[in-house]
Amino acid sequence: MAGEYGFGKVFFLPPAAVPLQSNPHRLVTDPAAEFPFAASIAVMVFPYAPFNANERIPAYYLASNTAYFGMKALIKRLNEAGVRAEKAEIPLKIALDRAGIGAPLRNSLRAVRPYGSRFVLMSIAVEGLPPLEYPDEALLSPCKSCTACERACPSGAIDEEGFHLDRCMRPRMETADHEDSIRDRQRTYIGCEICQYACPMNAGLPKAEPSPEAREAFDEERLAMGDAKAARALVGRNMSSNGRLTAEALAFAARDGLIAPERLDELIEAAGASPFPAVRSAAEYAARKLRENARQAEKDGN
Ligand code: SF4
Ligand code: SF4
Repeated sequence: MAGEYGFGKVFFLPPAAVPLQSNPHRLVTDPAAEFPFAASIAVMVFPYAPFNANERIPAYYLASNTAYFGMKALIKRLNEAGVRAEKAEIPLKIALDRAGIGAPLRNSLRAVRPYGSRFVLMSIAVEGLPPLEYPDEALLSPCKSCTACERACPSGAIDEEGFHLDRCMRPRMETADHEDSIRDRQRTYIGCEICQYACPMNAGLPKAEPSPEAREAFDEERLAMGDAKAARALVGRNMSSNGRLTAEALAFAARDGLIAPERLDELIEAAGASPFPAVRSAAEYAARKLRENARQAEKDGN
């Protein structure tokens, strides 16, 4: 049934406790206590095809939103069929590692055959379906002497000592207002996929093109004007609140010269009156970038 919603694999894991040192996302660390009806936690793998490495539209977040609604529809169907099931946000990487499924990667993500690291995980507590074992799902670490992600990461978050969460852009991009150092290096809306594009585990995956609907929704000028409704519907409202997409579009447009300077000036001026601090601060960044680009063009004699 999960397959009907795009999930490629489902692992039924024990609802065992997972102690965490810190728990900023308020994950359920004791599923047996939280969901006493559950025989297992069904961890569902939703694979997606990455876009071209230069694409700003985030393949992961489009997939994540689709997977989320797929999970909700699945829960509804199970409930209607008399099977109790509830969303169960557990520490998924730890649960997979404990069950010996896939392999941990140097960039802190996980690889699951045959999807590389290009998948979204959703998990539900379900009654009546006992945990299973998955001896064939173990994967030898592909990392060994590979340094592709280390070399690709623009923040130095991966080195011979391991992965440094405090240097990774991903957690620092969770709020709408990004630091300028992130605006200078960000490649895709909402999150960072740079190390995943570099990873040979993902190299053989089929690529996809964003749909015409996504192209239209993520048009930089449209977003920079504050019209983010369509894009927010595609990536999910919780991932795009407080003017986040508008702020990111302004930064991309100025940094990469995506909108003619005269028009961008108008958009920056309008953004300066936005109710969202992230949009106002991105407008300041964009104005600085425009000035820098103009100075550079003058120097280059253009
Ligand atoms: S790029 Fe290489 S080192 Fe990094 S996660 Fe992929 S396989 Fe591992
Ligand atoms: S997500 Fe981005 S910042 Fe984080 S490790 Fe990967 S490339 Fe580096």
